Amino acid sequence: MARVAVVEDEAPVRDSLALTLRERGYEVVAFGDFASAYEALSRLAPDLLIADVNLPDGNGLELVARLRALHSESFPIIVLSGLNSETDFMRGFAAGASDYLSKPFTRDELLARCAVHLGRSTDEGTTALQHDLPREGSLAFRRYEVRSVLGRGSYGTVYEAWDTVRGEEVALKVLAALPSSQPEARLRFLRETYALSSVRHANVVSVVDFGAAQGRLYYAMSRVHGPTLRERIATGGPASPAEVLALLTGLLSALDALAQVELVHRDVTPANVVLRDGRLEAPVLLDFGLAKRVFDRGLTLDDVLLGTPGFVAPEVVLGQPTDARADLFAAGLVARFAGVGREPFPDLRGMALLNHMARTPAPLPADLPEPLRGVLARLTALDPADRPPTARAALEELTALRA
Ligand code: CA
Repeated sequence: MARVAVVEDEAPVRDSLALTLRERGYEVVAFGDFASAYEALSRLAPDLLIADVNLPDGNGLELVARLRALHSESFPIIVLSGLNSETDFMRGFAAGASDYLSKPFTRDELLARCAVHLGRSTDEGTTALQHDLPREGSLAFRRYEVRSVLGRGSYGTVYEAWDTVRGEEVALKVLAALPSSQPEARLRFLRETYALSSVRHANVVSVVDFGAAQGRLYYAMSRVHGPTLRERIATGGPASPAEVLALLTGLLSALDALAQVELVHRDVTPANVVLRDGRLEAPVLLDFGLAKRVFDRGLTLDDVLLGTPGFVAPEVVLGQPTDARADLFAAGLVARFAGVGREPFPDLRGMALLNHMARTPAPLPADLPEPLRGVLARLTALDPADRPPTARAALEELTALRA
C-alpha cells in the first residue's frame, strides 16, 4: 500500500485530502505545519508527498527542496497552491516537485495526479530512460513499441508507437525536461495531459494513457490520420462555403466539449487542427499545451507570446480579462482561413501583427455567402461582448443557418 504524506495547514482541505486518499486505499500521514512535516519526513520518505506552498511556519517549496536534498530516492512530490499560482508551481518544479494541483481541486483531479505518480507509474529500474528519450525499436514504459519519430520540439518528442496493451497505434508524447529543469515546459506538458484526459469527444484528440517513469512524463494519444488544416489548405486551396460550415461546426463542438469541463484551449490555429482522413467536416483539435481551467485567470505575457500570432484574441493582447470567447474568436478566424485560403494580414508578423489585430477586424471576403459571413463576423468581433456568449450559442446560430 502506497504511503502518501499530506502537508496542508487548512484543516478542511487537509481532512478532505486525507479522506479521499484513504477511500482510494492509500495510507495517509497528514501534517499541518512545516516543522512537524520536516521532522517526520526527513526520517522516513513517503511514496508520494502532497505539500501546500504557504504554510504558517515556513514555505512549502523550501520543504520540497530540503527533502529532495536529504533523500536519495526520488519519490514524487505534488505542490498545492491557490488560484493564479503558476509562479508557485514553476518554483515548485525548480525545487524538485513533480506535479502541481491548484486549489480548489476536484476529487477526480486529485486522484488523477496520484494515478500518474503511483497507480500507473512504471518503474523501469536503473537502466532505462533516466536521461535518454525512448529509441526507435525499443519498448517504452513497458507498454509502447516505438516505431518512428513523428515530431520533435523543445518540449520533447512525439513517436508513432504500438500500444501493446490496447493493441492499437498511438502517438506517444514524451517530455524532454526532467524535474527541476525547464519548469515552464513541465507545467505546459502537465496542463495538456490533464486537460486532454478530462475530455472525450470526436472532435478532440483523446488520451488513452498517461504516466511518469523516473520523473519522465508521457502520454499516449489515439492516432488521427490526416493532414493539418494548414497543410490541407496549402495543397488543396480554399474550402467551399459548405465545407467551411462543416469545419466550423466541428470546431465549435470541440470547444463546447471543453466548456463542459471548464477548459479554454487558447491556441486554436490551422496547425492545431487535424482533418481526420483529410475531411474538412471531421476536424480534430489538438495541442493543449496552453489549455487552462476557466477560473485560472492569471494570464502571463509568456502565454500571449506562446499563443499563435494571427489567432490571438484582442482582449488577450490588451491584457484584459479573457474567457472561452477568446477561443470562439480563434475558431472564427480558423474557419475564415479555410474559406479564404490565407491569413487576414499576411504581411505582418509577431508583435506588429498582434497589435494590428487587436484594433482591426479581419476583413471577410464579399464572396462568402451572407449567413455564413454574418456568423464569422460575430465570432471574430474585436469586443468579446459582440461575440456569441458560448460555443453552444454559436452552434445554435449555425444550426439555424443550415435550416
Ligand atoms: Ca496554506
